[in-house]
Amino acid sequence: MTAIQDNLETVNRKIKESAEKSGRKASGIKLVAVSKRFPAEAVQEAIKAGHFIFGENYLQEAAQKFGTPPDPLARLHFIGHLQSNKAKTAAAISHTIETVDSLKLAAALNKHLLGMGKLLDILIQVNIGADPDKSGVMPEETEDLLLNIRRQNLSCLRVCGLMTMPPRTAEPEAARPHFRNLANLAGELAARELFADNQKVELSMGMSGDYHVAIEEGATIVRVGTAIFGQRPVLIT
Ligand SMILES: *Cc1c(COP(=O)(O)O)cnc(C)c1O
Repeated sequence: MTAIQDNLETVNRKIKESAEKSGRKASGIKLVAVSKRFPAEAVQEAIKAGHFIFGENYLQEAAQKFGTPPDPLARLHFIGHLQSNKAKTAAAISHTIETVDSLKLAAALNKHLLGMGKLLDILIQVNIGADPDKSGVMPEETEDLLLNIRRQNLSCLRVCGLMTMPPRTAEPEAARPHFRNLANLAGELAARELFADNQKVELSMGMSGDYHVAIEEGATIVRVGTAIFGQRPVLIT
């Protein structure tokens, strides 16, 4: 058994434990294996171990690894900051874009998707802790963004839910109030029927250090990198 295969098993087991602890089913939680800065071989190894959902942050790197899908079943969640002028590539290679934070970006994605005849799942990235270092729409501006997306009739986009990265802390418990706030915000917006499926709103929150906490607070998508692939190679610039 390889390290990646082993780690995937451990993470999946922990997801199940956290889900059961909070009276949820593990089948309601999607694991996004964040392969950023890891080579295509690492993705292949995870695929061999039966894992098919990956997360990437950098568009060029993502296009290299997923431009030609490494497997017909492989799915890319784009989780990095995205500018509207890069929307075409992102739309072409992604199954889900988790980091939509402006109407301009949503409109640009839709325009390119129309040309490709493709539907795309998106999440709205919310800066839940109002952290100046993080991108995302402010919590109080999220409703307006959803209303504006609806008004523009962006027919190729399915707004499936919310994504967040809380302020970085050493202690996983410190993220809990942020996760809870995102879940509450999603609940309010679902009550106003602002999502594609208001009975099943996606909540993407939790990373290697705190996905257990995020699941207890209602995460339906967790984005886990280092706990699966190991320490990320440093970016040499
Ligand atoms: C890198 C990254 C992750 C994964 O972080 P780990 O701590 O390696 O699990 C998750 N989400 C986003 C948005 C990231 O950039």
